[in-house]
Amino acid sequence: MQHWEVTTAAPEETRALGRMLGECATAGLVVLLNGDLGAGKTCFAQGVASGLGVSSASPVTSPSYTLLNIHNGRMPLYHFDLYRLSQVDDLADLGYDEFAEGGGLTLVEWADRMTDALSASVDVSIDHLSEQHRKLCFRAMDERGQDLLTQLARTSSTNDKPS
Ligand code: ADP
Ligand code: MG
Repeated sequence: MQHWEVTTAAPEETRALGRMLGECATAGLVVLLNGDLGAGKTCFAQGVASGLGVSSASPVTSPSYTLLNIHNGRMPLYHFDLYRLSQVDDLADLGYDEFAEGGGLTLVEWADRMTDALSASVDVSIDHLSEQHRKLCFRAMDERGQDLLTQLARTSSTNDKPS
């Protein structure tokens, strides 16, 4: 699957999608998160952390002032936020490539602030539709991303079925 769109009607629903992604993720996955301030990127990231089994003692917050926060789950979660990134070199100085090519899951908020596109498997763009509604557009950027989207869409439709 190349492209998948979902509308959520509450933060919990956005978190639940993130959790599904965290549950399916394999080591070395890179996911870009784009959308305006308040779109729900961090909310989605919180779900991903819970899907990876990150303890609530290590809460995922907007790391706007820190560029990178690391959380330990069944694999490490490298949570980047490029909002305050002033120079491309800063990302290299942080050792971005070593994280992204390592054995964890890399999430990058405000990825499109990088002029050179970052290499990733999935891009998630979040649109603010109304106070409680968000549209999440998932785009696969390689084969691994396609497999992941297929799995997410399948899991999500199973969860929607009445029990
Ligand atoms: P970002 O990281 O994109 O700046 P945050 O995740 O920090 O955004 O904030 C999103 C805000 O929008 C939160 O206050 C959240 O409660 C609210 N919100 C309302 N509806 C939704 C929804 N459907 N999905 C995600 N967040 C939502
Ligand atoms: Mg944020």
